Amino acid sequence: MAAVQRLLRAAASSSSAGAAATGRRHMTAPAGFGFAEAERRRRPPQDRNVQWVFLGCPGVGKGTYASRLSRLLAVPHIATGDLVRDELASTGPLAAQLKEIVNQGKLVSDEIIISLLSKRLKKGEEKGESGFILDGFPRTVNQAEILDGVTDIDMVVNLKLREDIIVQKCLGRRICGQCGKNFNLACIDVKAENGLPPIYMSPLLPPKNCMSKLKTRDDDTDEVVRNRLRIYNEMSQPVEDFYQKQGKVLEFDLPGGIPESWPKLLQVLNLEDQEELKLATA
Ligand code: AMP
Repeated sequence: MAAVQRLLRAAASSSSAGAAATGRRHMTAPAGFGFAEAERRRRPPQDRNVQWVFLGCPGVGKGTYASRLSRLLAVPHIATGDLVRDELASTGPLAAQLKEIVNQGKLVSDEIIISLLSKRLKKGEEKGESGFILDGFPRTVNQAEILDGVTDIDMVVNLKLREDIIVQKCLGRRICGQCGKNFNLACIDVKAENGLPPIYMSPLLPPKNCMSKLKTRDDDTDEVVRNRLRIYNEMSQPVEDFYQKQGKVLEFDLPGGIPESWPKLLQVLNLEDQEELKLATA
C-alpha cells in the first residue's frame, strides 16, 4: 500500500509538472516512476488483503456493495467521488474549480483525482490499512494504466443495471447531511419487457433522526445524471474492456434491491461463509 501511494503521488506530481510545462492534459505513467525496484515489487494475493475495483454506471450501487464488502473483508472502501465531495465541502483552493466540473457531471482531471487518491492512501497507510476496494476509480483507461503500473488488481466487479432504472435511482438518492449515509426514496417496480426480467427495488428509507437532514447531491438532477451516463459510456466503458482483456472482470447483473442482490453477490464471490462467520461472532 505504501508503495502504491508513493507511486501514485509521483505520477500525479510528475504529470502536473509536465502538464504545466507543455499545456498537455493527458497523463501517462512516468517510466520507472523514479522508485527503487524493491518498492515496486508486488506482493502475491495470498500475502496481502484484497485489491478490488468496482465498476459500473453512476448510481448503479457501487458504494452500497463496496462498503458492505469492505466491512466484511476489513479493507478500506475508497470512493473517489467521496474524496471529491470532501474537497468540495472544504475551503481548499480546489473547491471552486471542482464544483463547476462535478456539477456538470464531467470528470475531474486525472492528475487531480490521483492526487486526492494518493492523499487518501497515505492517510490509510499511517493508520495501518492494507488492501482496498476502489469505487469510482479508475474511470479512464489512462487511470487504469497508471494503477496497473503501480499495483496488482485481483478482481474487478462490474455492476450492471438497466439505464432507465439507474436514472430513477439517482433521482431518488438522498444523503444525510449529518451522518453522511446514503438513502433512496425511489420505489422501483419495473415490469418484464422485451425479454428483460422484472425488477423491484424497495426504497432505502432513513431512520427518523436523519429524515430532516436529507440532501440531494447537486449532480443528481435529471440533466446531469444523463450527462454522467453519457460520459460513463464514452470514457469508462473502455475501462471495462481494459480489464476484460486481463480476464479480471466479474459481471454482476443486479437482480433487485439489497435484499435480493447482496446474498447473490456473496454467493458469486464465494463469501457466504465469511458473512456467516462474521454474523456468528458479532
Ligand atoms: P461519483 O460519486 O463516483 O459519481 O463521483 C462524483 C464525481 O466526482 C464524478 O461525476 C466526477 O466529477 C468526480 N470523480 C469521481 N471519481 C473520478 C475519477 N476517477 N476520475 C475523474 N473524476 C472523478
